[in-house]
Amino acid sequence: MKRLFSLATLTIAVFCASTQAQEKKNYPQPEAMRPGMSEYWTPQPKVVSPGDIKTNSAPSDAIVLFDGKDLSAWMNPNGGDAGWTVKNGVVTVDKSKGDIVTRQKFGSYQLHLEWCVPKDISGESQARGNSGVYMQDMYEVQILDCYGNETYVNGMTGSVYKQTPPLVNAMRKPGEWNVYDIIYTAPVFKEDGTYLYKPFVTVIQNGIVLQNHTEIQGTTEYIGFPRTVKHGDGPIRLQSHGDPSQPISFRNIWIRPL
Ligand code: MG
Repeated sequence: MKRLFSLATLTIAVFCASTQAQEKKNYPQPEAMRPGMSEYWTPQPKVVSPGDIKTNSAPSDAIVLFDGKDLSAWMNPNGGDAGWTVKNGVVTVDKSKGDIVTRQKFGSYQLHLEWCVPKDISGESQARGNSGVYMQDMYEVQILDCYGNETYVNGMTGSVYKQTPPLVNAMRKPGEWNVYDIIYTAPVFKEDGTYLYKPFVTVIQNGIVLQNHTEIQGTTEYIGFPRTVKHGDGPIRLQSHGDPSQPISFRNIWIRPL
């Protein structure tokens, strides 16, 4: 028993001596952080000239989709001319011609557009200045006169139609121009056609956030629930709604692919 105790004591002593030797060894120490160690200078972001703050004109790198003169960037979804009415720098929906789409297709982007419902607009709920802007021809952000006009909340101005209501109602009066700034992130699909990443959208109306990086659940159906439809780049679509109210107008439309 005594011998066993001595052996244990010896073992502990050797271990302690070894640990002390390690503690005394002078290993290199991490270099002290300096500010420049967490800074990098290249590549420098491209210089973009902002548009005029008063007119919300297009930044220097934007693709202008409508500058008040013509609808050459747009067409009927069947391929013919867009056919809506351009006058005095604005384009007005022609309900007899149907929706229009951009000739160019897009993935993710920043989109700016301005819209105005007539001062003497009539109708109520969804039948009052109804239009819409579709991301990639699939997902509608609602355009509607919701100034003093209630409707189902997931169909209000700035809703992801039949999915997500806007955070607030930021409407200007009929006859005044509303400004939409939309930041859209395109979805990524798996081989089997289901979403790997769903699309996201941020919608700002008149400088006020309506959708804050909202996940889009699928197509924005009038009847039924969102569907998953595999797609690639797609056009912007502006809706010609069949309601009987007076047609709405657009101006100053530009896009910056991201
Ligand atoms: Mg609509």
